[in-house]
Amino acid sequence: MTDQNNNTDIYQDKIRDTRVQAKISIETIHPRSVTGNFRRFKTFIMAWAYAAFFLLPWIRWERPVGSQQAIHFDLIGKKFYIFDFIVHAQDIFWLAALLFLSAVLLFFATALVGRVFCGFFCFQTLWTDAFRSIEKMIQGDRIARIRLDKKAWNKEKITKKGLTHALWLLLSFWTGISFTLYWADAPTLLMDFFTGNAHSAAYTATLILMTTTYLAAGWIKEYVCMHICPYARFQSVMYDSDTLATSYDFKRGESSFGRAKPIKDLKKPEVRKEKGHGDCVDCGLCVQVCPTGIDIRDGSQLSCINCGLCIDACNGIMDKFGWAKGLIRFASENELDGGKTRFFKLRTYGYGLATIASIGFLLWSVSGNKLVNASSYQTRSPLYVMLSDGRIQNSYEVRIHNKSLYPAEFSINTTGMDDLELSIGAIEKLTIAADKSVRFLIKLRHQPQDSDTKETKIKFIIKPLSGEFKETLSLDSQFILP
Ligand code: SF4
Ligand code: SF4
Repeated sequence: MTDQNNNTDIYQDKIRDTRVQAKISIETIHPRSVTGNFRRFKTFIMAWAYAAFFLLPWIRWERPVGSQQAIHFDLIGKKFYIFDFIVHAQDIFWLAALLFLSAVLLFFATALVGRVFCGFFCFQTLWTDAFRSIEKMIQGDRIARIRLDKKAWNKEKITKKGLTHALWLLLSFWTGISFTLYWADAPTLLMDFFTGNAHSAAYTATLILMTTTYLAAGWIKEYVCMHICPYARFQSVMYDSDTLATSYDFKRGESSFGRAKPIKDLKKPEVRKEKGHGDCVDCGLCVQVCPTGIDIRDGSQLSCINCGLCIDACNGIMDKFGWAKGLIRFASENELDGGKTRFFKLRTYGYGLATIASIGFLLWSVSGNKLVNASSYQTRSPLYVMLSDGRIQNSYEVRIHNKSLYPAEFSINTTGMDDLELSIGAIEKLTIAADKSVRFLIKLRHQPQDSDTKETKIKFIIKPLSGEFKETLSLDSQFILP
């Protein structure tokens, strides 16, 4: 009984101590291919992400005016076209709100399920995965690549390495130019790019992204995740003992006398149990498939990107022996200690509420966005002029921005003061072309009365006569007398 208690204490300490920092070692990692649910999910995400990134700039979108591209970040026109949704320069704070939402969503997800964003959705992971697929296609799987690396430079090595880097460069170039295509009319830019007529910014952006992609996904690979990415540095503060992370079930894997190879009768679970060995058969597959080259049996580590590939590898081995899966699994520290994982607690409620609040603010702000904006500004110098017939005239600049994609006409009137004459010169209606902003000079004239005050609050009433926008707008202003 005492032995058993001691063992349990050792396990508890081990499990606690195994939340350790990754050792920094720079060497080429050649992960082995693996099949399984996590690998399939990663491939699925990768296929969708690649299809979206490379195809979206090529989707045409018919609009009465403006860009005919579904997604077009038009810096010169100061507009972002996203299908039927158009973000104008003055709505750019949505971008800040979106960034805030992304941040709290990331914190929320990390607090619940650890670094899954890194393992499945991050650009670095997606591109490194694609680069590794190319490497595997040309040079073969892990063992073949290790052997090739050790070989002297001969014809085979030069050909295989050369072809790999050529394809990496091609994918990097296509990544760079695809990114650039989002900022211009894609077919025109592509034609201009290859005929040497594109703007120098297009060549610079493509070259920068091509180079960074080639270096980050081809050369530095997961070292970006381990030592460069700032998120990797601070994500651990969002972890606690209830966070799900890829974990090795130390008690099950090691039992009393540790892991053991499945030799002779150690293939039988009852013999292993009797001899005090755990279920880990020390095959090393979980280490070989790991893209960051770590041994998850040493405990959760900062370098682990929660990609789940070691789970796939270990489940495959457990299946082979007919044993229960899950020796490596997504589990919390509490669960491994024999307790329960608590998802609902103050921290997750906090992140959850911040996420819901950011989504709510964005939806409210976007849905309340008007197709027409108007503002008025009273000319200050002079504030008023006295006309030859004794009337007082105030001048205003009224600006109307028709953000819709159709022309619009408006009438303008005032309320708040009797006998106020409005003049827009020879203009009868305020006509504004689609997606344009126009400033009108408006003059108000009034014959002063004894009952008048020096400053009277008035409103400009702008009524739509035609166009997409149907609401009447009201602008506060004032009429000033001497
Ligand atoms: S330890 Fe497992 S989950 Fe973590 S990075 Fe390696 S393979 Fe992925
Ligand atoms: S894959 Fe599973 S059985 Fe093999 S070494 Fe890793 S933990 Fe042990």
